[in-house]
Amino acid sequence: MTDAPDFRPETLAAQALGWDEPAHQGIVPPIYPSTTFARPADNQGRTGRMYTRDANPTYDQAEALLAALEGGAGCLLFSSGMAAVSAVFQALGPGDHVVVPQVTYHGVRTWVKRHGAHWGLEVGFVPNGDLDALERAVRPGETRLVWIETPCNPLWEVADIAASAAIAHAAGARLAVDSTAATPVLTRPIEHGADLVMHAATKYLNGHSDVLAGALVTARDDEPWRRIGALRHDAGAVLGPFEAWLLLRGMRTLYLRVRASSQSAQRIAGHFESHPGIARVLYPGLESHPGHAVAARQMQGGFGGMLSLCVNGGAEAALAVSGACRVFKRATSLGGVESLIEHRASIEPPDSPVPKNLLRLSVGIEAADDLIADLERGLALV
Ligand SMILES: *Cc1c(COP(=O)(O)O)cnc(C)c1O
Repeated sequence: MTDAPDFRPETLAAQALGWDEPAHQGIVPPIYPSTTFARPADNQGRTGRMYTRDANPTYDQAEALLAALEGGAGCLLFSSGMAAVSAVFQALGPGDHVVVPQVTYHGVRTWVKRHGAHWGLEVGFVPNGDLDALERAVRPGETRLVWIETPCNPLWEVADIAASAAIAHAAGARLAVDSTAATPVLTRPIEHGADLVMHAATKYLNGHSDVLAGALVTARDDEPWRRIGALRHDAGAVLGPFEAWLLLRGMRTLYLRVRASSQSAQRIAGHFESHPGIARVLYPGLESHPGHAVAARQMQGGFGGMLSLCVNGGAEAALAVSGACRVFKRATSLGGVESLIEHRASIEPPDSPVPKNLLRLSVGIEAADDLIADLERGLALV
């Protein structure tokens, strides 16, 4: 199937590129647990395989599939989303300037604040999606990387990828997009000018809350990309072959899962938008959302499965609603087939800018009516 690149992404995903398994023509690839690979008598590595920290055959198909879905030139899997994020920042050098959002996935903010200075990075923070602020924050010739996340945890603000790329490129910087929430089903950042796409593959790509994994996809096979590849090898944050195999299996249903979650999230957002118990619904699919116009332009087929509800009555009311849930599981993370609810303020660091009355919902693939009824039951108590 790889000789027919005009197949649509959902076809490529469903068949995991349709690669033939060479030994027995299985339609599912084997797992290669071997950490090391035998050499011929002259001790040369003619098979191209030496050691699993370099690469493992089980990575190949998952990496090729994700590169194809994103329209990228290459993909690298990592042992977690944060290992992928770290590799991007650690591939920069002392004195390099980077710009990151003030409110973004908290792990990225923490990494940059805690370790960025040790690494010699100079960090500028801007409100996510604020193009004027980004324009002012970049330093031509000094800024090497602009990091955005869209839609962005946990307020689901939307950043304009094409406009951010134009500002980054004019300053000589590269644009990296954390596209975990959008997935290639809804947005392909490289088509909008991004240089690098990052995924917490732990979330939608795997989709079953049973693999921790990260991925980077590059627009070009260039020197910065090869430095990231060297870092994965030298620092050793590789994925286990079994996890890579599970991730590939998860990606085969990516399009169905993301579309179902997006449809339900849109219904839930619409249902609670004018609810008396709810102060604000944060979801890019609502016309009232400040990022809706940009989201409608750069997202296709839905606005994702993530939304947040700000509950009237503050933190106490929000905790009471989540406490009453029977379908939504009270747990962190997102992107699985099961719906999750989380009061973010009680688990983020004290300096977190997240509103105290915010409940983050990761909408799974259950019946939307059951999810709505679950939240209604909680809201009736407050
Ligand atoms: C979960 C997440 C990460 C980090 O991924 P891990 O696999 O937990 O390390 C980064 N960005 C976003 C948007 C996430 O949701």
